[in-house]
Amino acid sequence: MKFYIMTLFPEMIEAGMNHSIIKRACDEGIIEIEAINIRDFSKDKHKRVDDYPYGGGVGMVMQAQPIYDAYMSIKERLSKDCPVIYMSPQGKTFDQQKAEELSHLDDMVILCGHYEGVDERIIEEIVTEEISIGDFVLTGGELPAMAIMDAVSRLIPGVLNKEESHMEESFSDALLEYPQYTRPPEFMGRRVPDILLSGHHGNIEKWRREQSLERTAARRPELLKKR
Ligand code: SAM
Repeated sequence: MKFYIMTLFPEMIEAGMNHSIIKRACDEGIIEIEAINIRDFSKDKHKRVDDYPYGGGVGMVMQAQPIYDAYMSIKERLSKDCPVIYMSPQGKTFDQQKAEELSHLDDMVILCGHYEGVDERIIEEIVTEEISIGDFVLTGGELPAMAIMDAVSRLIPGVLNKEESHMEESFSDALLEYPQYTRPPEFMGRRVPDILLSGHHGNIEKWRREQSLERTAARRPELLKKR
């Protein structure tokens, strides 16, 4: 899986993705992340990439030309089905199902906006879908892009090892995960449920299933309904 991230802040992507499981996946060649600096494609002598919005109003808008040229610089290397995703609070909300769907692709381009966003014509010209990570507004698309890369990468075979498996995690079965505990058996007078110390795998599995169902019913009843 190759991620092409078109951004004004490639150093954010490089710093954010250079740790832990994602770094290991990059080192092992399971995933590859290439940050493309949109500013490198500015034709302005001061390397400007934004301008005032037509019609007035506050803020600046990212111009279409540098983004288009950045995209054209990688286009030949993209697979036939490669989506061009614009991170946007106006997009469809990202969820585990979408992460699963994207994890089967060979590559994807993610366009990160900044300021008031991008010129609408670049969306019409190159973007295939808009994705939001929730109903709130961030200053840029880099954090949302990293959230997507992380959620997608961990579903790619080989990225997580057996101990880190995602099969029982929240949303994997449209349920939230059961509560987790580790050593010591008692902390601030709170004991780990006896059943988890019993060594009886059948009972533990049953308890976890019940906890998952109870938790989902209490916290996210709409997930149970969907299921
Ligand atoms: N003016 C835009 C609007 O009202 O829809 C918001 C622009 S926002 C300040 C700047 C950039 O951050 C966006 O172009 C987008 O790339 C990114 N962004 C902000 N919030 C986001 C969210 N919830 N999901 C995905 N991307 C987001």
